[in-house]
Amino acid sequence: MAKFGKQTAVLLCYNIAMKKILQRAPKIAFITFFLIILMIISSCSKLPGLPNADSTGSSADYDKDTATPSRTATPTSVQIEPSPTPTETPVPAPTLQSFPEGISPHSTDPVADPERIANERGSWPAESSLDNFYVVDLSQYRGRVEDASPLKGITVIVDPGHGGMDPGAIAGDCTEKVSNLQISLLLAERLRNYGAEVLLTRTEDEYVSLYKRIGLGSMFVAERALPRLVESGADTFWLRQLQADYQKMIEVNNDNVDPRRGEIGYRGQAQGIGVNELWRKHMDLQRLANDVLWLSIHSNSSLNTDIRGLKLFFNTNRGTVDLENRMLNKEPNCEILPANPSYHLYDDAARNSLAQFIYAEVIALVPELKDPANNPVLSGNYAFTREINLTSVLVEIGFMSNPEDLKIIIDPAKQAKVAEGIARAVYKHYTQ
Ligand SMILES: [Zn+2]
Repeated sequence: MAKFGKQTAVLLCYNIAMKKILQRAPKIAFITFFLIILMIISSCSKLPGLPNADSTGSSADYDKDTATPSRTATPTSVQIEPSPTPTETPVPAPTLQSFPEGISPHSTDPVADPERIANERGSWPAESSLDNFYVVDLSQYRGRVEDASPLKGITVIVDPGHGGMDPGAIAGDCTEKVSNLQISLLLAERLRNYGAEVLLTRTEDEYVSLYKRIGLGSMFVAERALPRLVESGADTFWLRQLQADYQKMIEVNNDNVDPRRGEIGYRGQAQGIGVNELWRKHMDLQRLANDVLWLSIHSNSSLNTDIRGLKLFFNTNRGTVDLENRMLNKEPNCEILPANPSYHLYDDAARNSLAQFIYAEVIALVPELKDPANNPVLSGNYAFTREINLTSVLVEIGFMSNPEDLKIIIDPAKQAKVAEGIARAVYKHYTQ
């Protein structure tokens, strides 16, 4: 075909075909028509812009020569439409979150002058922003005996860690989410025996995000506080605003939130540490709610399988200030930068006292869970003890990575003893 131009060849074939048809040789005419079509296709494949396999070398060569190979120009590749940008979940504006001018709470740009930001934030006065409208006289509980519903009037929010798609720590076939729930259900039963009201953040193997749990617990406290606030004759607007925020936290923090995509639902209202005026009221309200406790139930894990023992964590005022300073000075990242003053009115003493009771009572019943390092009560920056200002403790019942601890964690008889120990600690917290 090389000697002839394509058009000449096509005309030649066309003429032959016409002749053969005229000579009533349909078979030859059909084959000739087929050849014409092949030639037309062949000439079309040389259209500019569509490279052939042999025209620009292999794709490997192309990649080597180009820093950022473009998909459309890669030889022999199928052109793929870029996948559509995932539909953004509408980001609810953080209520009354006042960030200094020019700072987006969701930006990851470094801040030029963290010290200026710290100065603009100022600091909260060292006392509560609320009048004492939520007064519970805890002295009524002192000395109560065990068999007479001593904890009537007290509520314990029991929070079994992880669940659903989030297994927590894993050891062979055992997942932390399962033992957390088993122990939490036993604990709920024991606490009810003491006369306490119990609220569970989950009762089955389902995923509940951290901040949805916080929203649920906070809504409970707000609902309990509202009639007391009305009775005191004080303004209730702020509390209703908080309830609207909690509702948002509960709705936004659903199963579809993917923290890896930076979706808003993963974060709390405090954006880490700094709290705005309204969220400060949330913290101060929970500080007043001394008839509500928060217990998160977990098991630990470590790469060092020798590490074992019961550990208890809560966020402390000192820990908050230290973390804030670290962020401002070394990690000036807008996403986590506390643009508002940090909150430091956690009741460290009450948290520490409850944690010490839990350790003592659980170890009395399950001595194997004794912390060999003899340092069981620790400060940790956990969502439940940072964004919740109830007397709250995160309980890590041993290490699933340690074979001896694991046996205890999954043994129903030991689980019952652990639950009994924690319930006794709550009883002692209020009655001693
Ligand atoms: Zn856990």
